[in-house]
Amino acid sequence: MAESLYIHIPFCNRICTYCDFNKVLIHNQPVDAYLDALIRELRAIKAQNFRTIFVGGGTPTALSEAQLARLLAAVNERFHVTEEFTFEANPDELTPGKLDVLKNHGVNRISLGVQTFNEDLLKVLGRSHGYDDIFNAINHMEKIGLDNYSLDLMYNLPGETMQDLDDSLSHIQTLSPKHISWYSLIIEPHTVFYNQIRKGRMKVDDDDIEGQKYQHVINGLRALGYPQYEISNFSQPAYESEHNKTYWKNEPYYGAGAGSHGYIDSTRYYNIKPVNHYIQSMDETGSVVKETLPLDIKAQMEEEMFLGLRMNRGVDANRFESKFGRSMDDVYDTVIRQETDRGHITSSEGYVALTDAGRMVGNTVFMEFLLEE
Ligand code: SF4
Repeated sequence: MAESLYIHIPFCNRICTYCDFNKVLIHNQPVDAYLDALIRELRAIKAQNFRTIFVGGGTPTALSEAQLARLLAAVNERFHVTEEFTFEANPDELTPGKLDVLKNHGVNRISLGVQTFNEDLLKVLGRSHGYDDIFNAINHMEKIGLDNYSLDLMYNLPGETMQDLDDSLSHIQTLSPKHISWYSLIIEPHTVFYNQIRKGRMKVDDDDIEGQKYQHVINGLRALGYPQYEISNFSQPAYESEHNKTYWKNEPYYGAGAGSHGYIDSTRYYNIKPVNHYIQSMDETGSVVKETLPLDIKAQMEEEMFLGLRMNRGVDANRFESKFGRSMDDVYDTVIRQETDRGHITSSEGYVALTDAGRMVGNTVFMEFLLEE
């Protein structure tokens, strides 16, 4: 039984130079028709309590107040959130009016797309917000008591210095957000950044500098009271992202909206991505064109390891055994011994986890957990 739901809003007021998410410029888009289709899809999901709901994008706050109210009323009509109801927001779009709509409909956590506190770097990223917008948004949130928010940041930006990271750490110390996501910039194909780098007009740090910056972020946040709990996530005690932990614990969840994905009955599904195709393919029953990928036991065990090892706590050996009917030691005996000898893996109190050194080469370690046919 799924305890989590993800809802995708694929619209943005501006397209950032690095972005490869499923999104379109909102101008001239059939936003209301999209909401009609999305609400139909939501209504096809059994009415129930969810432990967590996450509305992401795109930029959900690109919707108008009336559109936000309509979407959230439809969510509330069918579902009750028992724990964490998160809404992604861009700082310049988080007006007092929109915040009231969110709060009045039960949203209790904001994931704020700050990316960096450096005004010049914000321009390089093509973000629609500036430095002041960040503080205005936070003031609005605090004024209405919506103070459970995450700051979403990036490092390894073109032209970024260690001083920029220190400036961000110093703002974090002052603002004291409950949660920080701090991702390394990944240069994805089909983005403006990718083309600029290909043409030699832009450079990002090499792997050594990137590694030093990552360690600087981890150490800096730990010193401020934000221990790392996942490769790119840090929080004050008791404020880890419960929704994202659903993914890392390899638990089932629903996804609704264009390009969203879900994991139900050991099957991953991926909704059709283009907004118009999503709208046109939505049928009377709330079903949309999607790809489905049933996972056999071998694939489920591999995902349990890849996803669980992202968390500092690691993979729960008891849970593994009760899910798959075989112990982790039995399935992964050689790999666990080998990666322990290499200093990448540690086992304690029933959990198998990456060490600090293992985290620096995470993808290489994950590959070792692929099982033979
Ligand atoms: S606001 Fe977010 S989803 Fe939209 S273009 Fe920028 S990074 Fe992509």
